[in-house]
Amino acid sequence: MIVGERKPIGEIIGNLKAFQSVLILACGTCVTVCMSGGEKEARELAALLCLKGFTAQARVIERQCEPEFNLLLQEEIASYEVLLSLACGIGVQVLADGFPGKSVLPGLNTTFMGAPIRQGVWEERCSGCGDCTVHHFGNVCPITRCAKSLLNGPCGGSKGGKCEVKPERDCAWQLIYDRMNAQGRLEELLSIQPPKNWSSSRYGGQRKMFREDVTL
Ligand code: SF4
Ligand code: SF4
Repeated sequence: MIVGERKPIGEIIGNLKAFQSVLILACGTCVTVCMSGGEKEARELAALLCLKGFTAQARVIERQCEPEFNLLLQEEIASYEVLLSLACGIGVQVLADGFPGKSVLPGLNTTFMGAPIRQGVWEERCSGCGDCTVHHFGNVCPITRCAKSLLNGPCGGSKGGKCEVKPERDCAWQLIYDRMNAQGRLEELLSIQPPKNWSSSRYGGQRKMFREDVTL
């Protein structure tokens, strides 16, 4: 899931200073599950903004990253000066693409692709490198979970199973070792992983994906 955190209220109000009426748009998917941009959060924010003197209303769009869902609120959107999206950065941009004449503000800081660890705690799990080799590492992604993104770890600084860069975090290579050990695959860790080809990653700029089998 995409994980994000609502922006501080002071920043939101600062961004809204040129506007009076605001439609807050929650998103019904990832940000609802991570309890930062769903219906409840949007309604609470609307109430808070009304107390601060704005005309604010909250609505939910099932998936803001798909334009068809955004168009369902076309009429209501037209009657507000500004849209405040509580979707991830993808949802904000798709919403803005659908209404190019409208001011759209992000209400969330999109943070990472991650997993819930326990109530109220999420951890990054994937960096979207475009060439998944996580099976070589006991399905613990070293690119994302090792502070140095080492493909041939560990770095030697790990202490008591914790990372030397962030001692509060588990060392990814300790986790990799433990998982491979549990599977009787430690021998595989003796092979040197070749340098990664990063051309499929985001460092070459924006990526696109084509699926000829489903393209109309
Ligand atoms: S190897 Fe790449 S695609 Fe696979 S989990 Fe790690 S970052 Fe994500
Ligand atoms: S201690 Fe472990 S997780 Fe931290 S940088 Fe070194 S190998 Fe990576």
